[in-house]
Amino acid sequence: MSDTRVRIAPSPSGFLHIGTAKVALMNWLYARKTGGAFILRLEDTDAERTDEAFAEAMCDGFDWLGIEWDEGPPFGHAPEKGAYGPYRQSERLELHRSAVTKLLEEGKAYRCFCTKEELDAERERARAEKLPWKYSGKCRGLSKEDAAERGDARNVVRFRVDPEGETVVHDLVQGDVAVRNSEFDDFVIAKPNGDPLFHLAVVVDDGEMKVSHVIRGDDHLTNASKHVMLFEALGYAVPQFAHLPMVLDERGKKFSKREHGANVLDWREDGFLPEALLNYVALLGWTAGDDKEVYTLDELVKAFSLERLGKSAAKFDLKKFRWLNGQHIRLLSVESLRDRLLPIWARAGFDTASKSEAWLMRMTEVCQEKLNTLNDIVAQTDFFFAEPTEYEAKAVKKQWQQEDSAMRMEAIQEALDGVSEWTETPIKSVIEGLVESSGLGMGKYVHPMRLALTGKSVGPGLFELAELLGKDDCQRRMNAALSYMKSNT
Ligand code: GLU
Repeated sequence: MSDTRVRIAPSPSGFLHIGTAKVALMNWLYARKTGGAFILRLEDTDAERTDEAFAEAMCDGFDWLGIEWDEGPPFGHAPEKGAYGPYRQSERLELHRSAVTKLLEEGKAYRCFCTKEELDAERERARAEKLPWKYSGKCRGLSKEDAAERGDARNVVRFRVDPEGETVVHDLVQGDVAVRNSEFDDFVIAKPNGDPLFHLAVVVDDGEMKVSHVIRGDDHLTNASKHVMLFEALGYAVPQFAHLPMVLDERGKKFSKREHGANVLDWREDGFLPEALLNYVALLGWTAGDDKEVYTLDELVKAFSLERLGKSAAKFDLKKFRWLNGQHIRLLSVESLRDRLLPIWARAGFDTASKSEAWLMRMTEVCQEKLNTLNDIVAQTDFFFAEPTEYEAKAVKKQWQQEDSAMRMEAIQEALDGVSEWTETPIKSVIEGLVESSGLGMGKYVHPMRLALTGKSVGPGLFELAELLGKDDCQRRMNAALSYMKSNT
């Protein structure tokens, strides 16, 4: 295995968010590409937001996408894996606390006894002067002895930022981001009860887990300077950074948690394939530099490179995603597509059990080209399970209310009556015969016939669907159509 070690570090706070899925995918792709390890670390220290059920829900999202980690905590059905555990942040408190102690001992951090009132007064003064507030550094000068003398007095621990020079984050996506150290105040790394704060915990965990690349959302870019300072102070190798743009919704806003589609499982609900979602999400932040858009996961792994990650946020484009999903549906074997459709037919109440295996496979095959989402199958196939009870009004007007409509319908019926082998090709031939003898266009026959058989103006190929319906059923539907036509003109 290579030395590449990457991670996704979500807070389990409800479900797998589409933005987290994107970051997870980029990390996963990079790990697979380089033969490195992909780590799942749960940042579950925020007790209020963390719940075991939330962790499970997130796990379901990863499962559905098929993103597997090489190292991670016991999570859902997965046992703990990896030699750098524990992989839940809440179980790593001792490591965090000893890092704080080390920084204190080396004078790289100090205890701050300033009270809330004192800090509020500082903030108030800054506000009056219209300056951004920065901690004054009042406790910076306290010697270890001074601090010790205060005994158990309530205090936080602050990191001692070197006021000189600048800190540079070398970011593979954003370029070098340099910030003058004087812009930072001595930020808090541990709470009065000794618990670590986010910056300290994330750095210790990345350092101890030997994370080589921190690939995450660009909402963390402003934190990265502090992280670089902490990596250096703690003597860890500073990882490579890659801060990725957020996933924006169709309106160009950050995908809010409440929005449909924020939860990756919403897309399952809507009939999208996980392989299509991965493909689409990859393209939201990455391009191979050519026109290729349809990628299998293997192809993504082969083509992936950090250098081609994009800097600007891409808006979610549902139309494009639907198209891409359709492309992935075409790539499935008929059997696999049938298996994915079965639960949808069941949910729609269609009696697939009464059909033969061969019939279902053929029906799936006939519809495969027509679907953009799996859910589209309901409207594409409902007429197979129940005769039409109504007909599309617009199509009725256009196809059935012409002077010669009934005549054409009767001609179709007569021609179909003579078909003995009820399969696609002979059915097609007799209709073609009518076209030829009448000199009319094909549409004059197929559209009225489709309306009679399905009640609709669009759907699967007409001759295939006629074959699947069977001769008796087709004849019954044609008769019903003719009576409708006659009584509605
Ligand atoms: N827990 C952080 C988040 O969910 C991730 C921090 C990181 O990736 O460094 O945003």
